[in-house]
Amino acid sequence: MNSLDKATRKILAVFAHPDDESFICGGTLAKYASEGMEITLVSATRGEMGRRMGNPPYLNRESMPAARELELRQACTCLGIRKLLFFDIRDKTVEFTDEESLIARVSALIHEIDPDVVLTFHEKLGGHPDHCAIGKATTAASRRTGHRSTLYFITFGDAMKHPERFGYTHKDVIKIDVQAYLEAKLAAFRAHRCQTEIDEWVWLPDKEALERLGQYEYFLKGNTAASKLDLHDLF
Ligand SMILES: [Zn+2]
Repeated sequence: MNSLDKATRKILAVFAHPDDESFICGGTLAKYASEGMEITLVSATRGEMGRRMGNPPYLNRESMPAARELELRQACTCLGIRKLLFFDIRDKTVEFTDEESLIARVSALIHEIDPDVVLTFHEKLGGHPDHCAIGKATTAASRRTGHRSTLYFITFGDAMKHPERFGYTHKDVIKIDVQAYLEAKLAAFRAHRCQTEIDEWVWLPDKEALERLGQYEYFLKGNTAASKLDLHDLF
């Protein structure tokens, strides 16, 4: 695909909390944004129930939603994401939200945005009830709408280096080289200050901190029927 084609492509990322986008797949989002793609990020919640309240703590439950929204907006700037939406679901309650209404909201977005790629959590491998719930609803929306977009599940660290541990094969996994985008990813980590202040490595001199970030981000194919030969690109 030439760069002109890529510039008109769109990604819809539907996640649960401010920081999911940066910590899990920030390098990939920065890469595609830098290629001119339009990325719309949905954060189902404002992350107001996060256990980390700054270090030393300076936030409380009342001040946290606005602080985390501001941090997410800064992280989006670091990554090149220009569109940010909230579903305004209370943090840690996505799994108790009416599933049909959640599916309807994501379906409406898919129709409105007409994305080429949809990113979300795997409904079983999401690692947190909010992640699994938003992933399940987004997967259902993707399938029910029958939209042409390709669905991928974001995955943690390099766990999918060994997909057979999760019942998948290497053909199910897209491996994106994000080495050139790690500075943007690190900046996004630092933008989520109240969540990362306690992680000393994030605040090491850039060179040392960058060495802690992996070169690759891994995605699981969500539409397994789609045969895709290039396993190093989401498009
Ligand atoms: Zn999360």
